[in-house]
Amino acid sequence: MNRKHLNSIHVNHNKNTEKCSTEIMPVPDKVYISMSQHIGAPCKPLVAKGDEVKVGQVIGDSDAFVSAPIHSSVSGKVVGIEEARSAAGGVDQLVVIETDKKQEVAETVKPPVVSGKEDFIKAVRDSGLVGLGGASFPTHVKYNPKNLDEVDTLIVNAAECEPFITSDHRLMLEDTRNIIDGILTVMKYLDLKKAYIGVESNKPDAIEKLKEEITKSGHPEIEVITLRSRYPQGAERVMIYEITGKHMDAGVLPAQLGIILSNVTSIAFIGEYFKTGMPLIAKRITVDGDAVNSPKNIIVPIGTKIYDIINFCGGYKSEPKKIIMGGPMMGRAIFSDNLPLVKNNNAILAFTKDKADIQMETQCINCGRCHHACPFKLMPTALSNAMEQRDADRLKKLKVMSCMECGSCAYVCPAKRPLGFNNKLGKAILKEAESK
Ligand code: SF4
Ligand code: SF4
Repeated sequence: MNRKHLNSIHVNHNKNTEKCSTEIMPVPDKVYISMSQHIGAPCKPLVAKGDEVKVGQVIGDSDAFVSAPIHSSVSGKVVGIEEARSAAGGVDQLVVIETDKKQEVAETVKPPVVSGKEDFIKAVRDSGLVGLGGASFPTHVKYNPKNLDEVDTLIVNAAECEPFITSDHRLMLEDTRNIIDGILTVMKYLDLKKAYIGVESNKPDAIEKLKEEITKSGHPEIEVITLRSRYPQGAERVMIYEITGKHMDAGVLPAQLGIILSNVTSIAFIGEYFKTGMPLIAKRITVDGDAVNSPKNIIVPIGTKIYDIINFCGGYKSEPKKIIMGGPMMGRAIFSDNLPLVKNNNAILAFTKDKADIQMETQCINCGRCHHACPFKLMPTALSNAMEQRDADRLKKLKVMSCMECGSCAYVCPAKRPLGFNNKLGKAILKEAESK
């Protein structure tokens, strides 16, 4: 591929846990399973206080089109339905289950019987799968675009460009066969002709393992593409351009370019789900940061509280000043470790004051670095100014909706201006103005 690359930045990889084989975390005493784990309508609890539940049992669902069911990650007894503040600042309903540690599996957990596209889409919905690369968009909706007959390519996003996170890297080494099986399953039922797996060059062992498994499978229509280790290589629009050369404007869906894009974790889950029927009840995550005693990659039951996860990793070494759900670039700094793990979490990072990188904002010096860092050549300074003036027309002209909030501009800014976050506010201002 000799095409010109999009603007990108170098960030220190800090992949400290890349050699840490995944451990399985024991089931905690209680789990707190959120009914809001995807973009779209939240689920309503289908269980009540006092009910006994088993692993894989549906405990929440919604009639809305954009939604996915939620399953119990444990066996035990429902001890409450609570409302609690979410990581995003809203209020979520949580089904609280006291675990019996027996991990009895629900009778409904069986490999799905699938004979065509409709059954496949239904099975994907039943599995509870949502985008596991961060967006948490229900996968059955993504896999069923109106123009599916024009879609011929699957792109598997295995870039993992966020610093510190290595859970996808470990998945590629430890669960390679399920990735290939997941790709073949999606290609078969959506009638796709070609699949690419995009992996950054800083994971040579994973690239080799994937290539070996593809050769063993006898499916040369699956191809591994080695991408530069640059941020934000894993952003949907960046990955599509770097692999196919197709530009995807804001508001355009990959399907309109003939592409279905899925995160590698979602694809491996499909590979396993079609063999076992076990829905999405656990997540492989990276726990790291200088405030954590024993950083690890672990598989954790969904609904486990972050403090339980940290305790499994040896507890805090010293008081954390910043805890992040996800990576340091696009993750969410959270106000407390008293929050439960949800489906799309891929990391918990805890940093002390020394590493938390909390810096004072100073005045813009018009250096232009933010503009040169932006993959879409947006003008972050001008966008920030328009946001501060609540100037919706200017925000629109400057294409605020094209910003994917990757944070590259803020990362390179010597004045430490929160440029990506300002664009989030700018989008809200524009949306509000356009709704009037
Ligand atoms: S946060 Fe937005 S403006 Fe800043 S670099 Fe990323 S896409 Fe460009
Ligand atoms: S990088 Fe920061 S200081 Fe430089 S032009 Fe952009 S906002 Fe101003």
